[in-house]
Formats: sequence, structure tokens, C-alpha cells
Amino acid sequence: MKHLFFLILISGSLLAKAQTNINIVPIPAEIKAGKGNFIITPNTAIVLEGGNLENTAAYLNEYLSKNYGFSLKMVKRSKGKNQIVLNYERLDYPLPGSYTMDVKDKEVYIAGDNEAGVFYGIQTLIQLLPPMKSTALRIPQLYISDRPRFGYRGMHLDVARHFFSVDYVKKYIDFLSLHKFNNFHWHLTDDQGWRIEIKKYPNLTETGSCRNQTLVGRYGSDKYDSTRYCGYYTQEQIKEIVKYAAARYITIIPEIDIPGHCVAALTSYPFLGCTKGPYKVMETWGVSPDVLCAGNDSSYVFVQDVLDEVMQLFPSEYIHIGGDECPKEKWKTCPVCQQRIKEEKLQNEHELQSYFTKRIEKYVNSKGRKIIGWDEILEGGIAPNAAIMSWRGEAGGIAAAKQNHYVVMTPENPFYINHSQTRNEDSVTQGQYNPIENVYNYDPVSKELDTKQAKYILGGQGNLWSEYLDNEKKLEYMLFPRISAVAEVLWSPKQKRSWPDFEKRLPAILDRYKFQGINYSTAYYDLQPTVMASEKNEIRWKLESRNKDGKIIYVLDSNTNASFKYAGPIPIPKTGLYGAALTNNDNKIISSWVWQYFNLNLATGKKISLSTEPNKSYSLGGAFTLVDGIQNEKGMLRSAQFLGFNGKDMEAIIDLGNDQPVTQIILHSFEQKGSWIYKPAAVSFYKSDDGINFSAIDAPVNMSGIKNLLYQASFQLNARYIKIIAKNNGIITAGEPGAGNNAWLFVDEIEVK
Ligand SMILES: [Zn+2]
Repeated sequence: MKHLFFLILISGSLLAKAQTNINIVPIPAEIKAGKGNFIITPNTAIVLEGGNLENTAAYLNEYLSKNYGFSLKMVKRSKGKNQIVLNYERLDYPLPGSYTMDVKDKEVYIAGDNEAGVFYGIQTLIQLLPPMKSTALRIPQLYISDRPRFGYRGMHLDVARHFFSVDYVKKYIDFLSLHKFNNFHWHLTDDQGWRIEIKKYPNLTETGSCRNQTLVGRYGSDKYDSTRYCGYYTQEQIKEIVKYAAARYITIIPEIDIPGHCVAALTSYPFLGCTKGPYKVMETWGVSPDVLCAGNDSSYVFVQDVLDEVMQLFPSEYIHIGGDECPKEKWKTCPVCQQRIKEEKLQNEHELQSYFTKRIEKYVNSKGRKIIGWDEILEGGIAPNAAIMSWRGEAGGIAAAKQNHYVVMTPENPFYINHSQTRNEDSVTQGQYNPIENVYNYDPVSKELDTKQAKYILGGQGNLWSEYLDNEKKLEYMLFPRISAVAEVLWSPKQKRSWPDFEKRLPAILDRYKFQGINYSTAYYDLQPTVMASEKNEIRWKLESRNKDGKIIYVLDSNTNASFKYAGPIPIPKTGLYGAALTNNDNKIISSWVWQYFNLNLATGKKISLSTEPNKSYSLGGAFTLVDGIQNEKGMLRSAQFLGFNGKDMEAIIDLGNDQPVTQIILHSFEQKGSWIYKPAAVSFYKSDDGINFSAIDAPVNMSGIKNLLYQASFQLNARYIKIIAKNNGIITAGEPGAGNNAWLFVDEIEVK
């Protein structure tokens, strides 16, 4: 009897949980929560009342059997039986994909406006399932009416910089369908690899799909892995993937990037370039000056031949022809390109690219298709029927919409999902800081557009460039959970979107990813550390969390066995390593650790003033940055730890609080000529007892280090005030990077001992 009572209690609490856990992403247009549950068991039936719904039912069954170990039988509808009914209903909404869903105690009724609508209803149902293995899946009774805000909801994947297998591309497509995306932009060719079999040009894959080695670490590292890297998709595999996507109501838009980003093609067929080579499939990232020759007719024949096969394989309305980052220097010196400019009466090389694009567009249009390209194709005049993907911010998209051209908004900030999602990434990423709330708060329809122009915004797309995605786990780490933010921006009604509401759903969304075996990022939980001075001029470590339910703990000297509860900024009494993390209500750590080494000296936390303000771009934390106890890591330019002065000197005065013995002063500086950062022309130290009258300290200032530079002087004296002057290098001399411009002066910590 006792045992039974216990069971009832358990199921009672599960029931309560199920009723409140409606954490659907993207959030539906309307949800009405009901009371009670519907329970899916192996005896639940699927009833197909409309035609052509076998595909969607099969998807649900695949999901159930993969994640819960059972699937459902398809039967005729019968009253009173536990069943999931799929049907059609005219929903009178202009975009395809709307659906309603009615969950009652014995029946789930999903009605789509079309096949895709029913499929999206199933995706919503999947999100109502509990994230734990069971054969009695409780879902809450509710009513949903839902519809997409935009007709184009895209995710992109670059398979040129790093290749992903057929099976993984299918998995990626499934990630998209779980979030109701309907377009997959497949970036198939680039300087670093040609990834699609073209029968007429076998060298493209024989030669162009391999590079001899790959850059290690961040762009500019000059280190390579000495490992040949290859990969491409056969036409049979592509057909298979296109079919797989179509069964998920996803259109694949293939991208053949021309006339720039073509080094893999040039390596395969050097006659396509202006200089005729030889070329080498690129082993590093960035933009190559070598592009397709736009003067030679054989380039156009090549592109048309390639697109013929591409259009055979991909039934999409749009074919992406790239058009981005095409340097014009080779065209400027190529007689054939210059001849073309003359013959066609073009003004310059930008118009030559425009000519190139228009000619290719004409061909694609003649086959009943349209082109879409990156916003660079606006330069020199947009092709008459082309659509634009706006990546360099929104300006290109806005300009195109004002010229009545269709637009997909995919601005680098914040829709490049390969940018860092935390300030302390533990592996190399593209850089920049693009946390999930940035992604979430984006809206594809700019205020600069009126209602009529806004109609040209087809939607938006999250982009995933793969320079630093060299494995599947890393891809997922970058994609999740930000894909859910992109999805909600593109699907949910604008007035339904709310970051605080999304934030409340996020932990459950992450639980679902975990259940699905996805390697998601926990960056959302990451602590935001700042250093502050107390009233007593001692430093304190302040830690903040976006997640208000979590509790912050901290440890000293990396001893994670003895943790302390955080109750406000932590006093830092001595030099050492401090760590902090966020825990949930079960005291489980849910964030990554933040580690900080504090190096204390007489100046740490003391009053400091600067006679010239640092440049606004490099002044985070202000003068206090120089006495916050945090020294820059070796060889790393972490701009947040520096103050930057453009063409100006740095002059700082530190008040040590009282007259005391001082034996050493150290100034940390930095040199990185490539970024126009030059070491100080001279560094000098001064002392004072009143803060007004300073005298030079009579001791030589020695410099040591490369990149990270230390300027130090040792002596014996008494002082209350210390002044440090670092002279800017001035105008950069000829022959040096940035010649003729003002040099940057970067200074970091000042130590007084
Ligand atoms: Zn040329």
C-alpha cells in the first residue's frame, strides 16, 4: 500500500511537470494551455486522414524509435482510441506551413494547410515529448495555432573549408527540420576545396577537392598540419541528400562561388585564370587575388557547363552564384579582361563583375531558374532578376529591397553562427563576440524599409562558415543553441518574441538537445567577470550571471574541492588563481569555469589618473585596467586588457595612498606591427610626495620581451605618487606596416613593488 502511494506521488509530480513544460522553439503564434495530458505509448495509433502524409508519419516514427525505442502503427480513425490524427485544413494564410494542433486526452489532432504544415505540427509535437527514455510519453493538453512569419528560413553550411560526410549533412538537415527551417544553403565550392562532382570537368574533384595541408590555429599562424585534406560528394550522393531534404520540406540552395573564391577550380583548370597559373588549392583562409578570368569566353562556358549539371541535381528556384570578395587586381592587369571592358564599354572592374553576373544570370534565367548572390553583386549594377544575400551588415539588403529585388538577410553581426558565443572560448573560432541574445534580438526587416519595400525581405539565414569547424562536435557546439534563436527570429510573429521568455525556455531547450545527443554550448550560463576597486582601494572580483536561477560558486588556487558560495564581489587579498562557475539548484555545475590569475603589487587597486584619454575603441575598463591585477596573457592581444592610444602618449599618475618604500616599477606594453601597434619610443618614471611636483627617478629603464614587452627600473626610494610616461612611436615610418599613419601605443598593467 505504501509502495502504491509512493508511485502515485511520483506520477503526480511528473504530471505537474508535463503541464507546465511547454518549451517550444520557435514559439508558436498562439498557444492555449489546457489541463491534463495525452500519453503516447506503443499502443497509440497514427491516423492519416489526408493524402501524402505517410512521409510525415514516418518521420515521427523514426524519431520515436531512435529516441524512445518504439514506433506507432498507422490505422483508421476510431472513436475513443488513443491516436494521433494528421489531416489538412484550409488555414487562409499567405505563406505555406501553417498548422493547428489540438491535444486532448485521447487524441492529438494536427491539421496542416499543406504537407509542410503537418510536418511542422509534428516538429512541435516532438518538442512536447519528455527528454527522457520512456514508453509512456506524457504531453500536455493544449491548442496551438501556428504559422511562419517569413517564407525563407535558412541555415547555411560551408563544406569547402572543412568537409562533412553525407550522413552528417543529413543529420544537419534534421537539425534544421527540428527548428522548422525550409532552406539549406550549401556552400559547395571555395578556394580551399571543390566539393561537388561535375562530370564534364573531372579535375574539379580529382584535383580541386584536395589541399596538401591545412593551417593550424588562427588565421595568420603560419603553422600547417602537413596532412592532405580531401572530400567531395558524388552526384549520386547529392541526389540522395536533395531527396532527404525534400522529405523534410527543405529546399537545398547550392552555391557555386564565382568569380572569386575559385582557386580550387583554377588549380584544376588553370586556363580559367587570368595568369593561367600554376595555382594551388589554398591551405589557409582569407581571400585570394586569383579569380576567374572575366575576359575569356571559356570562363563563361565553364560556368554554364557547371551550372547545367548543378541545375540537374538541385530543383531549387534559386541557384547561389556567390559573387563575394572578388579582388580586381588580376583583372586590372589582364589584357583579355581589359579588352572585355573596352568592348562592352564598361567603366571599371566592378562593372566587369556586374557584366559577368548578368551574363550568368541570363543563362540561369533561360533555364527557368533565378540567381541569388552575396551583396557584392550590387556593386557595378545588380543583375535584373537577382536576389541578394546581405552579409556585410544590412545595407546591401536595404539597397536591394529599395530597388525591388528580393533579399535574404544574413548580416555577419549577428547571423554568423561561427563567431564566438562566449568571451572565453576554449578553442579557436572566427573571433568577434556574438552571444545568443544578439542573435535572438535581430530582426530581418529594417526600420529603414516601408511596408512595400519590406515585402522584398524573403526572410533570413544563419551562416556557418567552417574554417574553424574541423569536426562535427565543434560544428554542433557553434550551432547549438544559437540555431534556436535564429529559428525563432524567422518563424515566430514579431510581437510574440521576447528574450526574457526565450531565456525561460532555454534550459529546457538545452535538456532536449542533450537528450538528442547534441553537443551544445553552455555559453549562456557563462559568468561575466569584472574587476572593481573597493573603497579601501583593494580589488574585488565581481561575477554576474544571465541565468537568475543559478548560484555562483568560487574557488581559490584552483582547489575545486573547497568551493565558496558567492555573495557579492570577492575580495582578492593575495596573488593567485581564482575560479568561479555557476551551479543549478542541485549544486551541479552548469557553466564552464572562469579562471583568473591575479597578480598583486603596491599599485593594484590604487587610484590612477590619465592625462590623455585612450582611444574609444581600446578603453574598456578605463585607467583602472592598468592597476586591476590582471596581466595580459603571453603573446595574446586581448584588447580588453589593454588601453590603446592612437598617435598619443600615455601619462599615468598612481596614488599609492601614503609615502612608502618603492624598489621597482614595471610597465607592460605590446608590439604587433601588423596591427599598427608599435612599442613606445621611450618610457620614463617619476616620483612625487604631493602629486604635483614630480622628479625623474634616477635609474635606467630596461626593456625585455618580444610582443609582450616589459619596461622596468629598479632603485630604492620613498614615494607616495608615481608617474609613468610612455611616448608614442608617432607616424609609422616608410617600409613598416601602416606607414604614414599614426602608430598605436598599447599599454597594460603597471606594477609597483
Ligand atoms: Zn582576365
